[in-house]
Amino acid sequence: TELTHIRNFSIVAHIDHGKSTLADRLIQDTNTVADRDMKEQLLDSMDIERERGITIKANTVRLDYTADNGEHYVLNLIDTPGHVDFAYEVSRSMRAVEGSLLVVDSTQGVEAQTLANVYQAIDADHEIVPVLNKIDLPASDVDRVAEQIEDVIGIDASGAIQVSAKTGVGIHEVLESIVHHLPAPTGNPDAPLKAMLVDSWYDAYLGVIVLVRIMDGHLKKGDRIKFLSNGTTHHVDRIGVFRPAMQNIDVLGPGEIGFLTASIKQVRDTRVGDTITHEKKGTEDALPGFKPAQPVVFCGLFPVDSAEFEDLRDAIEKLALNDASFSYEMETSAALGFGFRCGFLGLLHLEVIRDRIEREYNIDLITTAPSVIYHIYMKDGEMIELHNPADMPDLSKVDHLEEPRIKATILVPDDYLGDVLKLCQDRRGIQLDLTYAGSRAMVVYDLPLNEVVFDFYDRLKSVTKGYASFDYQMTGYREDNLVKMQVLVNDEPVDALSTMVHRDRAEMRGRAMCEKLKDLIPRHMFKIPIQAAIGGKVIARETLSALRKDVTAKCYGGDATRKRKLLDKQKAGKKKMRQFGKVDIPQEAFISALKMD
Ligand code: GDP
Ligand code: MG
Repeated sequence: TELTHIRNFSIVAHIDHGKSTLADRLIQDTNTVADRDMKEQLLDSMDIERERGITIKANTVRLDYTADNGEHYVLNLIDTPGHVDFAYEVSRSMRAVEGSLLVVDSTQGVEAQTLANVYQAIDADHEIVPVLNKIDLPASDVDRVAEQIEDVIGIDASGAIQVSAKTGVGIHEVLESIVHHLPAPTGNPDAPLKAMLVDSWYDAYLGVIVLVRIMDGHLKKGDRIKFLSNGTTHHVDRIGVFRPAMQNIDVLGPGEIGFLTASIKQVRDTRVGDTITHEKKGTEDALPGFKPAQPVVFCGLFPVDSAEFEDLRDAIEKLALNDASFSYEMETSAALGFGFRCGFLGLLHLEVIRDRIEREYNIDLITTAPSVIYHIYMKDGEMIELHNPADMPDLSKVDHLEEPRIKATILVPDDYLGDVLKLCQDRRGIQLDLTYAGSRAMVVYDLPLNEVVFDFYDRLKSVTKGYASFDYQMTGYREDNLVKMQVLVNDEPVDALSTMVHRDRAEMRGRAMCEKLKDLIPRHMFKIPIQAAIGGKVIARETLSALRKDVTAKCYGGDATRKRKLLDKQKAGKKKMRQFGKVDIPQEAFISALKMD
């Protein structure tokens, strides 16, 4: 296809504002998929994405469109994830396209992820077409929302297109606007091949599939290609495009987006942002490198049943093949036995991986407290990255500690502003900015990531009845007075419950944890002290009283099948517990104990 007849774009939106529905409508209106094959949210392919209504992996689709001027165009849509954990995937796919549709729900208005995503598009020099969605709803207020787009984002919304992705109103205008308002890509067809590796994932049948954007030259089936980052070479055995099902083609030229397969075994061997060229007569001029996605939240994953360790290893290795941003290494815990210390982009990412292990591989897991990476400066000048509070070195050798901070942007209706400020304050936040747009406030806070990774988002949703939106970016490391808090159950330290806390909050957190654990751990035949301690000094204590002996006799007599059933239940319940010394601690305790209310 001629460059002048290609348009590459993405859709940016806050979650639930209708990005996937709009994408479906564009696919349908260009007859890319026969009506009988159309199912809702075609691009959200993974089950877990469907269930949670989020898009995780960037997806792409090629649409053929005959415009009102009679010309044929190829439109390449890259669907980007909308969740804050996957901001990095948004940024990388943005570099492969020239424009964005900015979708804003006209019953809601601009939200935190609208801002975060549109600024990524602006950073990538995109032309932006604002789209006001859900105009079929009575609460739709297009004038107010258009004004908000101008006030808050600072882009011209006079040409905003009013659509209903649900009923199809306005979709034709969107397609025309893509053709007329978004720029065509540029590229030199005669130059050596230069392609950008936009994304890659593992397919059970084809091996690693690599999504590419051709910048210059041509990529053909049978070519020998080279990855500039590591010099590895491969034989291209397949080239194609997504419509959205895979369709093989013979060649991709400048400005085009498509995939290649080349018998690559692991996603890890393909670096996003890498430059792909020909092995012979290739370019040596690499595209500006992308930063690899770095895990920021770490936690331990242990099998409830220690016999399932090898199954867990297998599951983790398989998942890691397809997700280069997920890291893992083996970990042993005195209390939990063998498991893995895993790194994630954020809490949603953690939940998604944990769910997949439990569901797809059928392994019950104990998840230990999530932790961020602390920088520990030793007295001898060395800096250690601490991924696991259990590995905290001897304090006498430590000079100081630094923790990661974020800049959080929260948009919230006025009525809830007080609650949001209090929540941020409670989490050691420093207010940076507070502005108003209509009846919504936008607050910007500097917060420790540690205070956010755990349950901040849940708390924010609950104090604002779901009306707040939230987004963040990492800003850097700062020194603070942080200590490791240990929990002792029946005088035994349970390393999986160790956390890093701010010294000023340690007593409060310790007390809260002990109280929670007291409720979570079932009573035993003996008294169980539950303590929180810092460096051997106990700062909080609860005691779980002993069961009275005769309670166990309660199913004496009665009929035998009932008794058997009860015993089976007990056994099943036991399976969900882990023994620490003489004490059984239920699985959910490891997470629940850390939640703050
Ligand atoms: P995404 O999170 O941005 O991908 O949003 P979705 O496309 O999943 O849409 C979120 C919800 O809004 C779904 O329940 C859609 O059916 C609904 N929705 C999307 N567009 C419209 C629209 O134009 N009108 C109405 N009434 N509902 C819509
Ligand atoms: Mg979606």
